Amino acid sequence: MDAQSFIQNSTPFLTWLADWKASLKPARLGEIVTDPGRVAVVSVDVINGFCHEGPLASPRVGRIIAPIARLFQAAHDAGVRHFILTQDTHDPEAVEFNQWPAHCIRGTAESQTVPELAGLPFADEYVILPKNSIHSALSTGLEDWLVEHPQVTTFIVVGDCTDLCTYQLAMHLRLRANARQQRGVRVIVPEDCVDTYDLPVAAAPAGAMPHDGDLLHHVFLYSMALNGVEVVRSIEGNTITKSTKGKGEEKP
Ligand SMILES: [Zn+2]
Repeated sequence: MDAQSFIQNSTPFLTWLADWKASLKPARLGEIVTDPGRVAVVSVDVINGFCHEGPLASPRVGRIIAPIARLFQAAHDAGVRHFILTQDTHDPEAVEFNQWPAHCIRGTAESQTVPELAGLPFADEYVILPKNSIHSALSTGLEDWLVEHPQVTTFIVVGDCTDLCTYQLAMHLRLRANARQQRGVRVIVPEDCVDTYDLPVAAAPAGAMPHDGDLLHHVFLYSMALNGVEVVRSIEGNTITKSTKGKGEEKP
């Protein structure tokens, strides 16, 4: 199939996809957190190296920090005490650097939690889990944590990037529950707290793969929803806050 046919054939689906995403509804935190001890907020890669500095940092991804910080605070106010932060903390010779430029090496500022989350008054309650791949549960402490906390059945997943680490994390939590025949497990992704980077075809350096942020954000949200992850527009706490990622602000 040539490119023009591919684009033409995909148009009805892409039109549907744009409408689907636009129709996502906000959820109320109070409806999700009925028993705070059963809820965990799991944040992936909300660290300086993807938000503030370094070769993989992106202003577009940085814009998810404010809604995530508000959600952390609202969840804590609602009694949630499980905050798990899985974070790229790479070996200096990481095998992953065959796929991506060197980033978030352990001991560097890039591998640290963004100050907007590290500065929250309950930051000492965070469980920080270093990782050395885009998967939060491979050779990390996440599986041990899940085994030690079987009462936690609702997971609110936030972070970056939608199609990479966030997708792997949300799908892992969803599929783990499916494989174990665990009914009642919820994996919820608020769209305003996840995003991915944009590298236009015209701007991609020689040898680098371009990356359409809007398209991939949409497609991977769809794939999560297709598999039973609850994708919502936002999760609103008691304080009504307007999302900072409204229409017309998608591109810097
Ligand atoms: Zn990495």
